[in-house]
Amino acid sequence: MSDTHEQGSVFIDDQSYRLPITVTPERYQIRLTPDLKTFTFTGEETVTLSVHEPVKEISLNAAELNIHRVSVTDIKGEVIEGTVCLDEANERAVCTFPQTLAPGLWRLHLQFTGILNDKLHGFYRSTYKDMNGQEKMLASTQFESTDARRAFPCWDEPALKAVFQSTLVVDEQLTAISNTAIVHETRLPGTGKKEVVFADTIKMSTYLVAFIVGEFEATDPVFVDGKPLRVWAVPGKRHLATFGQEIGAASLAFFSHYYGYPYPGDKLDLIAIPDFASGAMENLGAITFRETALLVDEKAATRSELERVADVVAHENAHMWFGDLVTMRWWNGLWLNEAFATFMEMLAVDHYKPEWQRWTSFAVSRAAAMLVDGLKSTRPIEFPVRLPAEAAGMFDILTYEKGAAVLRMLEQYLGSDVFRQGIASYLRKHEYDNAETTDLWDAIETSSRQPVRALMDSWVFQPGYPLITVRAEQTTLILTQQRFLYLQDDAAHGQSWQVPLFLRIKTAAGVQTRTLLLTERETRLTLPAAPEWVVVNADGAGFYRVRYSHDLLNQLTPHLQTALSAVERFNLVNDTWAATLAGLSPVASYLDLLALFREERDHNVWTAILGSCHYLYRLLDPQQRPGLQVFLRRLLGPLTQKLGWHPLPGENDLTGQLRGELLSALGTLSDDAATQTEAKTHYLRYKTNPRAVDPNVVPALVAIIAHTGGRAEYEEFHANVTTAKTPQEEQRYLFALAAFRPADLLDRTLTMTINGEVRTQNAPYLMRSLLLNVDGRERVWAFMKKHWEEMTRQYPDNSIVRMCEGITALVTPALEADVRQFFPSHPVKQGAKTIDQHLEKLRIAVACKQREETNLSAYFSRQS
Ligand SMILES: [Zn+2]
Repeated sequence: MSDTHEQGSVFIDDQSYRLPITVTPERYQIRLTPDLKTFTFTGEETVTLSVHEPVKEISLNAAELNIHRVSVTDIKGEVIEGTVCLDEANERAVCTFPQTLAPGLWRLHLQFTGILNDKLHGFYRSTYKDMNGQEKMLASTQFESTDARRAFPCWDEPALKAVFQSTLVVDEQLTAISNTAIVHETRLPGTGKKEVVFADTIKMSTYLVAFIVGEFEATDPVFVDGKPLRVWAVPGKRHLATFGQEIGAASLAFFSHYYGYPYPGDKLDLIAIPDFASGAMENLGAITFRETALLVDEKAATRSELERVADVVAHENAHMWFGDLVTMRWWNGLWLNEAFATFMEMLAVDHYKPEWQRWTSFAVSRAAAMLVDGLKSTRPIEFPVRLPAEAAGMFDILTYEKGAAVLRMLEQYLGSDVFRQGIASYLRKHEYDNAETTDLWDAIETSSRQPVRALMDSWVFQPGYPLITVRAEQTTLILTQQRFLYLQDDAAHGQSWQVPLFLRIKTAAGVQTRTLLLTERETRLTLPAAPEWVVVNADGAGFYRVRYSHDLLNQLTPHLQTALSAVERFNLVNDTWAATLAGLSPVASYLDLLALFREERDHNVWTAILGSCHYLYRLLDPQQRPGLQVFLRRLLGPLTQKLGWHPLPGENDLTGQLRGELLSALGTLSDDAATQTEAKTHYLRYKTNPRAVDPNVVPALVAIIAHTGGRAEYEEFHANVTTAKTPQEEQRYLFALAAFRPADLLDRTLTMTINGEVRTQNAPYLMRSLLLNVDGRERVWAFMKKHWEEMTRQYPDNSIVRMCEGITALVTPALEADVRQFFPSHPVKQGAKTIDQHLEKLRIAVACKQREETNLSAYFSRQS
C-alpha cells in the first residue's frame, strides 16, 4: 500500500473542491438501516484514519445527510467528542474537536441519517410493479462520480482509497447485496429485521461502493477463477438472466486471461434495477444495470438486443480490473477508464461471438465519434478537470467511442501482443492504487519499445482528427494530413497528428500492405509500379478520414465488393458523406456512389447509407421527399426482394438483422405501400404466434405499423408497453409511441413524458425520439420549451443533454433560430459543451439544406 502523502504533489492546491489530506481514511466500517416505507435511512460508521499532521479539524464529504454525533478515539481508546458543521455548498462536513489530534492512527465515529431519494443517484429508491400488479420498492446506489457522500460521510475522491466493511440491517424477507460476500447474517429478534455483515473489500475508491436492498431472485452461481457469479432480478424475471450470466462468465474468464490477473473480488453479482440513470455501473463485485442491459429472452430478442447486453456486461466486467483494481487519480483520467473498458468490451464480445464481427460494427460507433469530433465545438479526449461536476461532462462519445477507437488504432499499430503485455504490467504495477494516463503509455512503451507517449499525446490532448488526402503521380503515392472540420475554421490549420497509416496497394506486382507513421504534413511513398487501386486506412482502425483523388476513387469503385472489406466500404461511404456535409464534395456524387451499393450485404454499411438518407429526408421540404423515396426504393428494392421476410436456410444472425433494417427503411422512410401492407399481415401472424416471425423482423413490423398507424394501433401499442414480457419488448413499444404521426397521438405521447407514466430513466429518451419525428417536430419542440422546467427537475441530470440531442433534427432555418435563442437562457446542469455540439450539428444540417436542396431536387427529377 502506498502512503497517500506521496500523492500530495499531484493534488491541485485549491481547498474549495479538494479535501485537505492532513487526514486520510484507511478502513471504513459502515452500518446502514434503510427504511423502504419512509424513504429514509440511519447510519453509523467508524473510519480508521491516518492523521499525518496535528489537526483540530477533520473535513470530509457529506451531502443531504444529517450528522448527529461525532467523536474520535485514539490508539489507547480515549474518546474525544466533537462537533460537526455541514457546508452544504461544498458538500462537506467539518468535524471540530476541543483538542489537537496528534499524528498517528485514530478512529472517527459518526452517526447520521439520510434520505432514499428519487433522483437515481446516491442511495435512491426504485419502484416497480410485481407480478400481481402490486407496487414495490427497492433501494439501490449509484455513486459515480461523487454521490457516495449522499449515503455515508466519506473522503469522496478516487485517490483516497480505503477498505470498506459494510453491514446492512434490513427486513427479514429482503435481500441485501454489497461489494463482497456475506460473512454472516443474523436475525434481530423482535424487530422483524436481520443484520447482514459483508466481508472487507479490497482497497478501493468510494465511488465503487454499492448497497442494494429489496426483493430479488438470483440464478444459481457459475464459477470463474473459483469465484461465484450470479445474476439478480426482481421476482418473476430470473428466467431472463441466462444470457447475461453466460456472457458475464465468458467475459470475466476472458479478462482474467487477457490481463494475466485473476478477478480481484471475492464474488460477482450482476443486478438488474428497474430504475437506473445510465446503462450500468461497475461497483466492484456488485455491478448494477438497467434491466434492458442485463435481462433478455434469447429466443425472442433481436441480435442487436443481445449484442447490447453482451456489450454492457463485458464493459462492466472489464472495469473490475481497469478502474476498480487500478483507478484514475483524479477525474481528468476518467476517459482512460471508460475508453479502455469500451475497447475491452469489443475484444471480449468479439471473442465470445466471432460471427457477430464486433470490430466491423464498431465502425458505426467510431463514425458517431468522428461526427462530434469533426465539430469546432469538440474537445480533446483528456482535459483539465477541477470540479468533479466538470467530470460529468466527460461521460460522452468522445470519452467512450473516440477513446476506444484511438486505443484500437494503437493496438493495431503496435501489435496486439505487445499491447496486451503493456496492459498487464500496468495493472501489476499499480494494483490497489491510482494511476495517470502517462503511466499506461510508459508501460506500453516498455513492452513495445515504440514512442507511444508522443504518438498518443497527439490524439489525446488535441481536439479533432485529420483528413488524409491521397493522390498518385505515376509510381509515387502522396499522402497529406490536415484537420477535418464540417465548418471551416482558420485556427485549425497548424494542427497535425502522428498518424498510423495502414495501406493496401494493388500494382502489377500484386497486392501489398504497408504500415507507416505519418508525422509530417505530407509523405511520399514510392511503389514498385503504378497503382491499380489503393486502400488507405486498410482494415479501418485509423481514427481519420480519407479523401481519394478523383482518379484513385474511380480506380477503386469497380472493386467495391472484391477489394474492400466491409469496414472499408463502410468508411468509404461514411467519409464521402462527411465530405458532402462539409461542402467538400457535391451531394450528387454521394448519391452516385450509393447507387453502387445495391448488392451490399453488410448491415453496418447499410447503417451508414440509411443514416445519411434519413438525414437527407429531414432536410427536404415535404414536396421534395418523394424523389428521395423513389431513389431509396430502387436502392433497397432488389436486395430486400432477395432476402424476403423469413430467414433463409443456413443464414447467419447478421443477415437476419440486415433483413429487418432494410424492411423497416422501405416501409417507413421510403413509404413503400407493398411493404406496409405485408408488414400488417406479418404482424397479425406475430400476435397469434410470436414464434412465426423471426425476432429480427419484429422491430421493423412495429416501426412500420407506428409509422402508418392511427388511434387503434396506438391504443394497442400503448397497452403492450405494460404487458410486455421482456424489457426489450417494453422499450420497443414505448419508443414506437413516438413514431405515430397524427398530432393528437403525438400529444398523448408528449404528455406521458412529464405525467409520471414513463420512468424518468426513459422519459428523456422518449422525448429525444419525439424530436426526431419529422412530422411533429414543430409541435414537439414547442412542448419541450413549455415544459422545460418540469423536465429538468424530474429527469436525471445526466440525461438532459442526451434528450437535447433531438434538437439536431429541427432542420429548418426558423426552428434553428428559435433553438439558438432558447439555450442561452436555459442552461443545462451537466454537459454545456455537448449542447454547443448539438447546436453546431444543427447549423451544419441547415447549411447543407440551403446549399444542396436545389441540387437534390434536380438529381431526383433526373432519375424519374
Ligand atoms: Zn464504463
